[in-house]
Amino acid sequence: MSERLTALVTGANKGIGTEVVRRLAADGYTVWLGSRDRARGEAAVAALKGAGLDVRLLEIDVADDASVTKAAQRLAQETGRLDVLVNNAGIALSLSTPPSTEAVAQVKAVYEVNVFGPVRVTQAFLPLLKVAPAPRIVMVSSGLASLTRLVDPASEFYAINLLSYNSSKTALNAVTVSFAKELAASGFKVNAADPGYTATDLNGHTGYRTVAQAAEIILKLATLPADGPTAGFFDDQGAESW
Ligand code: NAP
Repeated sequence: MSERLTALVTGANKGIGTEVVRRLAADGYTVWLGSRDRARGEAAVAALKGAGLDVRLLEIDVADDASVTKAAQRLAQETGRLDVLVNNAGIALSLSTPPSTEAVAQVKAVYEVNVFGPVRVTQAFLPLLKVAPAPRIVMVSSGLASLTRLVDPASEFYAINLLSYNSSKTALNAVTVSFAKELAASGFKVNAADPGYTATDLNGHTGYRTVAQAAEIILKLATLPADGPTAGFFDDQGAESW
């Protein structure tokens, strides 16, 4: 039996997501490249297909209930099963606004993508994941989720005080633990990945890591063996402080 494993990566038309799609496809997965914008998604898919990879476009806006429902229905018709879900889509609407002046509307907008997005997508695709023999879910979190690091004056993150972004990723870690505990008995591994500070559009390419480096921990958690961890938070050095 040689049925190909199937993966979905959200927010994958650029940045870390595209690299994760490329690597999973190179490892033999059929990968659905999630993009909220059809044209941007088609361009990313075309580039990867041109390299001979089995990559398909799935239009999905993680902030939109109807879009996520439609995407899950499409995948149910097309494959009927999902082995790997990478909740990668994320935004940081401001990298400089102090907490005291960040508008609640902006905080809500960030949570809609970074927290409610992964909740919405995970719930919608659970029926397909449950068909897989060894389902894996990776939540793409951040070192800025770590309260331990944020209160440590010696941490490189101590001075990065982003109300909506940091707290959304801390909440995402909590969401990760909740899903992991419910699904552990069904053979799921649900973990949060910290890709590190990576040069992408999210931070105006100020990050010092490459997307190839960022993808490593995501790939590792997406392909964990049966005795691998669940309900954890990891970077490529190992377990990270909550
Ligand atoms: P990026 O290049 O800006 O990519 C973000 C992706 O998310 C884009 O494809 C974007 O699509 C998509 N997206 C945004 N809102 C969406 C929505 N509502 N529905 C679906 N897709 C949406 O940033 P990145 O650095 O690769 O970020 C990927 C993940 O890594 C994020 O979760 C981010 O928080 C996390 N992360 C990044 C770093 C870093 O240093 N770069 C560090 C830690 C964690 P559009 O092109 O349509 O906007």
